[in-house]
Amino acid sequence: MRILVIEDDPVLANGLSVGLRLAGFSPEALGCLADARAALAADDGTFGAVVLDIGLPDGEGTALLAQMRDAGDRRPVLLLSARDRVADRIAGLDLGADDYLGKPFDLDELAARLRALLRRNEGRARPFLEWNGLIARLDTMTGEYRGTPVKFSP
Ligand code: CA
Repeated sequence: MRILVIEDDPVLANGLSVGLRLAGFSPEALGCLADARAALAADDGTFGAVVLDIGLPDGEGTALLAQMRDAGDRRPVLLLSARDRVADRIAGLDLGADDYLGKPFDLDELAARLRALLRRNEGRARPFLEWNGLIARLDTMTGEYRGTPVKFSP
């Protein structure tokens, strides 16, 4: 699953990329709103979710969020911000963000929240599909059939 990461701090962006890759995602990190707008405009829907910093060099991440929602883009957006105040959380969520993490945050928690957002976006409350003894875990592309492990191709 491709994840668009918009974060201007190069150390944090690199940490996010490494952490999300380890969690099984394919992150693409960009550092400003202009690059993010270009990437989203050129994307044919392959980004499954967006991790969006609020404080960016060319504006507020929330402006991009508002633009996405105005354009009917319903992809999950998780906001990141050092301004971990209740008012910022409320403003971000009211603009259409799906979740919010204040910096500093735990990378494992970010990955788990992304998985939860993606499940919810796909209309699945559980992290797996089950049919007639076959269980498919779509986040890890593994599963089992009547207790025997099964591996799926992409
Ligand atoms: Ca920033």
